[in-house]
Amino acid sequence: MLHANGSLLTVDVGDRTAETTNIDDELEEFVGGRGVSTKLAHDRIPFDADPLGPENRVYLASGPLQQSSMSFTGRMNMTGLSPLTDGLLSSNAGGYLSRNFVGTGHSVVEVAGESDELLAVHVTDEGVEFEEVPELAGATVPEVTEEMNERYGLEAENLVTIGPAGENEVRFAAAMTYDERAFGRGGLGAILGSKNVKCLTFEGDSAPDVDLPNEDVHMDVHRQAATSDDIFRRQGTTHLVQVLNDNFSLPTRYFSEMSFEHAEKINGDRVEEKKYKKAACSVCAFACKLPTRDEERGVETEGPEFETVMAFGSNSGVGDIVDVMKSNGLCDDLGMDTISCGNTIAAYLASEDEFGNVELIHELIEKIARREGVGDKLAEGIDRIHEDLDVENWSVKGMDFAAHDGRVVHGQGLSYAVANRGADHMYSTLMIPEYNDVIPAEGTAGKADFLIDHENRNAVRDCAVLCQFGLGRVIEEDVFEALFEEDYEDILAIGDRIVNLERHFSNQRGRDADDDRLPYDLPDLESSIQEYYEARGWTDDGIVPGDLVADFAQAADD
Ligand code: SF4
Repeated sequence: MLHANGSLLTVDVGDRTAETTNIDDELEEFVGGRGVSTKLAHDRIPFDADPLGPENRVYLASGPLQQSSMSFTGRMNMTGLSPLTDGLLSSNAGGYLSRNFVGTGHSVVEVAGESDELLAVHVTDEGVEFEEVPELAGATVPEVTEEMNERYGLEAENLVTIGPAGENEVRFAAAMTYDERAFGRGGLGAILGSKNVKCLTFEGDSAPDVDLPNEDVHMDVHRQAATSDDIFRRQGTTHLVQVLNDNFSLPTRYFSEMSFEHAEKINGDRVEEKKYKKAACSVCAFACKLPTRDEERGVETEGPEFETVMAFGSNSGVGDIVDVMKSNGLCDDLGMDTISCGNTIAAYLASEDEFGNVELIHELIEKIARREGVGDKLAEGIDRIHEDLDVENWSVKGMDFAAHDGRVVHGQGLSYAVANRGADHMYSTLMIPEYNDVIPAEGTAGKADFLIDHENRNAVRDCAVLCQFGLGRVIEEDVFEALFEEDYEDILAIGDRIVNLERHFSNQRGRDADDDRLPYDLPDLESSIQEYYEARGWTDDGIVPGDLVADFAQAADD
């Protein structure tokens, strides 16, 4: 089975030490990326840890394909105990970090402890340096990049940075790389902030040897990415705005409506009009990124993508793409997840009857990042403040809802209910076969096995670390088998172990079936949840039996 090579580097920012550990056994079993990070996080973060305390740890990891020249591999994984969901959570980001990270010779970098001074942590193939940077307190993400460039000649592609939001422990603060690419969901940037780590830099020329099998398959994937006429290459995910608004649902005005009368003002065509050049991630010929600019109003950003258009557009009652671009740019600069920030602001707009007030929205983004005034409350996220705002709780396990609406694509709704990451679409991406009529959108009955296969496949996607946009287009089952030189069923079994470890960790923190709940009903939801538990081998209460993970996890019988 293909897996990443390279050591674990543990950086303790409290006592400013670094040590390397051989993790070959873990890599053989969990491949890399999300898999090996989840295994390490499960075994090394205390079950009762405070997500914003020194005992939490955060993991940056590459996979085995970050040394290939195949499209869809320009990504990195980050894992930690989420301050938003209170469970183990992984997020991945594109850009150009992965090749610089791999050059350090490590497959995983673990950040532990808590510094008493704001730090830049420099990781190279020759060691680790800790630099006190109190002068960067409150700096935006591009300001940190500029400073690291002036001091050391480092570029945005060498950096993982937090903005003011991370420093202020906003529960949905992102860790940013390449300035505009986000390890977005779940507040991983707040973990770095709680450790007083302003940025991590990576450079080196010591990538470990990886023997990549079937390089002809890599070439074929790359060729297909380069020659595709897929609309994603022109409009990214934003082409979905109109399609979903017209045929399924586009959550609008804090999820109170399911279509937006101004959708055509924020759809993919409007984004494409503002796109001024092509952009990609490392080695990716699909090149779906969206650098956008409006010269008249002086707004320039990358994106927005579909989810951001929902959160800051329809869900906030805003029908102007430039206003959404501005919200997107502010979140990137300040270091926040655009989905959670937009949805939380939409909750506030609902409580104040202020939908469409773009001046207020832009003011709130700044206030949340700096925890000023009402921003301090909103920085806690919807789950923790909905009662105070007197609005519905549009979240599951602390994670606010993605745009793909489970009220219409019911299997995706089931996924939101049971997923360890809560109401996030990337965990299973079950909405895709439902939109495409591979399975009916209506109903949850009989979908549990299909959902489990999707969750398991996506977990391995995140071990590799592959971009979702390659899956279902170019990277099908047979390509997975060729890339990993393994039977598909055995590949899925790795994903199963990862989902079980995440769930086991959550169970130890008191989470069970009571947390697998939606703010709406779906046909056969209760029996489908039970069917899901049974197929996973969990109890009726949604608990992972210790013996299910005993072979590959420490403290499994707690
Ligand atoms: S498809 Fe787009 S997001 Fe994915 S790796 Fe390629 S350029 Fe990056």
